[in-house]
Amino acid sequence: MEANPASRPRHLMDPHVFTSNFNNGIGRHKTYLCYEVEHLDNGTWVKMDQHRGSLHNQAKNLFFGFYGRHAELCFLDLVPSLQLDLAQTYRVTWFISWSPCVSWGCAERVRAFLQENTHMRLRIFAARIYDYDPLYKEALQMLRGAGAQVSIMTYDEFEYCWDTFVDHQGRPFQPWDGLDEHSQALSGRLQAILQNQGN
Ligand SMILES: [Zn+2]
Repeated sequence: MEANPASRPRHLMDPHVFTSNFNNGIGRHKTYLCYEVEHLDNGTWVKMDQHRGSLHNQAKNLFFGFYGRHAELCFLDLVPSLQLDLAQTYRVTWFISWSPCVSWGCAERVRAFLQENTHMRLRIFAARIYDYDPLYKEALQMLRGAGAQVSIMTYDEFEYCWDTFVDHQGRPFQPWDGLDEHSQALSGRLQAILQNQGN
């Protein structure tokens, strides 16, 4: 099925935007976040296709006094529009090009969100660890402590995102050089960070 960009469903990303921003060997300025929502039905997670999408952080514009908005908080902002049923249990999955930060309050806001919304679970698959933030370890530990499942994206998640969130026009996912090596190294770092929790 052919689709021209004008008729591209709103949740689909440009292929180049995806591969350049999720490349786990290159640092990028923006943060992209692909999300999906499932609801629990008789012990099984069922995907809700209407609650799937992607977004990116809003860049700061100091001229207008706007300090920007990180992608995680942009997601939290759109949760009310999903009109989820408080009586049901949901699982949100993020595929995010950078792990959440502490310095701008992201991890703290996500923790508060999970505490206030006990009917929601959160899984985070990060392409890269945001170690520009000196408190990046605290961010990951805080999210884990709040009950979020935190993992590094592997080939399977990159391919899944490509298939699910990218306007790939039928082309299969093409891994970049070093994808597996970077993913394994980052997973090792993440495990070490999470095992040191509380130290
Ligand atoms: Zn942040």
